[in-house]
Amino acid sequence: MPLPKAELHLHIEGTLEPELAFALAARNGVELPYADTDALRTAYEFTDLQSFLDLYYGLMAVLRTEDDFADLADAYLARAAAQGVRHAEIFFDPQAHLARGVAMETVVAGLGRALDRSEAVHGVSTQLIMCFLRDESAASALETLETAKPYLAPQGPIVGVGLDSAEVGHPPAKFREVYEAAAALGLRRVAHAGEEGPPAYITEALDVLGAERIDHGLRCVEDPELVARLVRDRVPLTLCPLSNVRLRAVDVLAEHPLPAMLDAGLLCTVNSDDPAYFGGYAGDNFDAVRVALGLSPERLRELARNSFLAAFLEHDEDRRSRYLAEVEAYEFP
Ligand SMILES: [Zn+2]
Repeated sequence: MPLPKAELHLHIEGTLEPELAFALAARNGVELPYADTDALRTAYEFTDLQSFLDLYYGLMAVLRTEDDFADLADAYLARAAAQGVRHAEIFFDPQAHLARGVAMETVVAGLGRALDRSEAVHGVSTQLIMCFLRDESAASALETLETAKPYLAPQGPIVGVGLDSAEVGHPPAKFREVYEAAAALGLRRVAHAGEEGPPAYITEALDVLGAERIDHGLRCVEDPELVARLVRDRVPLTLCPLSNVRLRAVDVLAEHPLPAMLDAGLLCTVNSDDPAYFGGYAGDNFDAVRVALGLSPERLRELARNSFLAAFLEHDEDRRSRYLAEVEAYEFP
C-alpha cells in the first residue's frame, strides 16, 4: 500500500498519456502528426521548454467534448489513486481551450463529471482550480474569470484561481486586478512563482496577489529573508521534483534542494505537475526523491503530512484529520 498523500500541483492537461491521446484523436477525427503511440512517446522525450510547450499545446487538439475531459480526469484519478493520492486539487487552463473554440461549459462539465464520482469510484476527494496563462494579457484573465462565474463554488466546482505557463517577463503584479476580483468572489488563490522566475516573484505573489500557496517556489532558497518569511507564515510550497529535472530547473535530482528546504523548516510538498510529460505521477515523485536524495521514512511521512496540512480543506476539517491520521498510521514496507 502506498503512502497516503494529497496532490496539490497537477495540471489535468499534463496527464494526457499517448494511448489516450490516440484514442481521443480517433474518436474526434483529429489527425496527429505521429505514426503511433511509440512515436508520440518518443516526442515526450523533449529536452527544452519550448519543445515541451509545442507538444503540450499541440496535443490539446484531441480534447474537444465533455466526454474527452471526463475521460482525461478519470484516467488521472485512477493512476493517482493507485499511487496513494487521497485528495487532489486539480489545475486546468481554460484559456488554452477557449482559444481553440472549446467552451468553458464543455471543459468544466466534463471535468466536473469525473470529479463528482471520484470519491465513489477512486476514493479520491477533489477540488478544481482554474489557472490563468501568465503569457496572456491581464484583460484576457479578467474575461476568463467572468466566463467562469457560473461554475464557481459553491454552486460550481471551481474553488480557486492559479497562475501558470511561461514565468519570466510576466511578474505576478500583472494579474493584481483579477486576483482582487477572485478574492472578492471568495476564491482561494495560488500562483506559480520562483520556478524559472526570480525569488522576488514569490514575494510579489504573496504581497500583491494574496497567494495562499506558492507553486514550485524553488528559487526562494536564493533569498534567506524570504525563506524566513515562508517558514514563519507557514506558506506551503508545491514542489515538483521530476518536473524540475525535465525542465532543467535543477541539473540532476540528486542536487534538488528539497532536503535543505525541509531542514530550513519550509512547508514543502511533493507533486507531479504534468506527469505524462515529466516522467511520473505523485507516488513516482516520492519514490524518485527517496532514492536520489536518500530521504528517510520520517521525511517522507513529513512530506505526506504537509500535503494534507497545505490542502484547501478548511471547509471539512474532519476529513483533513482523517487523512492526517492515515499518514501517521502508515507503516513503511
Ligand atoms: Zn505547474
